[in-house]
Amino acid sequence: MSVTTYWAEHAWLPHANGPVVERDVSITVADGRITRVAPDSGPCPPGAVRLAGLLLPGQANAHSHAFHRALRGSVQVGSGTFWTWRDTMYRFAGALDPDSYLALATAVYAEMALAGITSVGEFHYLHHAPGGGRYADPNAMGHALIEAAARAGIRITLLDTCYLSSGFGAEPTKPQLRFSDGDSDAWAERVSALRAAEHARIGAAVHSVRAVPAGQLGTVAQWATETGAPLHVHLSEQTAENDACLAAHGVTPTRLLADHGVLGPRTSAVHATHLTDEDIRLLADSSTNICMCPTTERDLADGIGPARRLASAGCPITLGSDSHAVIDPFEEARALELDERLHTRTRGHWTANALLRAGGQDGHASLGWPDAGRIEAGALADFTVLALDSVRTAGPPPALGAETAVFAASAADVRHLVVGGRHIVKDGVHQLVPDVAAALSTTIAALRS
Ligand SMILES: [Zn+2]
Repeated sequence: MSVTTYWAEHAWLPHANGPVVERDVSITVADGRITRVAPDSGPCPPGAVRLAGLLLPGQANAHSHAFHRALRGSVQVGSGTFWTWRDTMYRFAGALDPDSYLALATAVYAEMALAGITSVGEFHYLHHAPGGGRYADPNAMGHALIEAAARAGIRITLLDTCYLSSGFGAEPTKPQLRFSDGDSDAWAERVSALRAAEHARIGAAVHSVRAVPAGQLGTVAQWATETGAPLHVHLSEQTAENDACLAAHGVTPTRLLADHGVLGPRTSAVHATHLTDEDIRLLADSSTNICMCPTTERDLADGIGPARRLASAGCPITLGSDSHAVIDPFEEARALELDERLHTRTRGHWTANALLRAGGQDGHASLGWPDAGRIEAGALADFTVLALDSVRTAGPPPALGAETAVFAASAADVRHLVVGGRHIVKDGVHQLVPDVAAALSTTIAALRS
């Protein structure tokens, strides 16, 4: 058994009355799990790994499309809509194969590690070769993503996505041919052959009510139920989707998902931007998770979703960087509160503690890692350490570490990342990918050429 003791100058720890920042915290890790957490343990003992700053649970990025990272910057020129942005995204999607996706995703997941993210939910629909031809391994792209997470040292839940149509009753368009398995039974057969790993779990996704015909939603939901897997779905990000769903089925997307057994406590609805009162009730009554992606939602001019109302009604809230316009879990967290302030012209909708829970415990649970996202004995030894002496974080007392993390820190303040007891980021340097910026630059340049 390998045993390591980490010693944190400060740590955000669970407490009967809510989380508090404790000091001089000794954390013993054996075989990837925390076995003991001791606050006020005195100076760093000899042989322990000293972690200066504030230790937080590792953050879960609950919604990612890794290849969207290649669009950064180039989609900020000119104007356009969600739908013109999507055309650019499809051009990059068309350039990827399993080898280039492995290289790109390794770099993207390494960027996530440097930003404090220990687990990613990869909403993956780029399954087949351009035009729809099958690779020798029909899961070659999914397996490349699982391998990429291993190389970057983080956990992954591969949310293998069923994507069959371009709209209600419409065949896939040319760029979408590589997303489609033909029907949901073929999707289930392929997904059943995916190989999980110690760092990787397999989940399911419905791309959207646009992309899976209503009569086939139940197959995906049933596969997730039988395997106990997380099930994610894009929901009502754009009003056009709601309008088309109402025209085709006479109900909202949320009602359609509810009627076909897609909602529930293992399900995450991503975005949930444009909802009716009944939609909110359906999501809350089913304890469906809501994954908000504020930096993407603002980038794509989606609107501000009713996250506060959903949370108050009973939905756990999680966070994702989705299109990776930026990768910064602290920016996602504060955006939830700050967007609500702009919308309501009042302050104080979310506490910093609640937002750290969204990125930590609730995010992990939504990805099928219920034993991560908490610093306590028995939990997976996944943690993130933020500097409290940077130009952004210096000044506030350590007792306000949660508020400093959420409302002032950025990904650049992450000093350490530990995943399953392994020290993946040390003093701001990724230990497995030597030059993450160069890896991003090289892999993205190759896609442009
Ligand atoms: Zn998405």
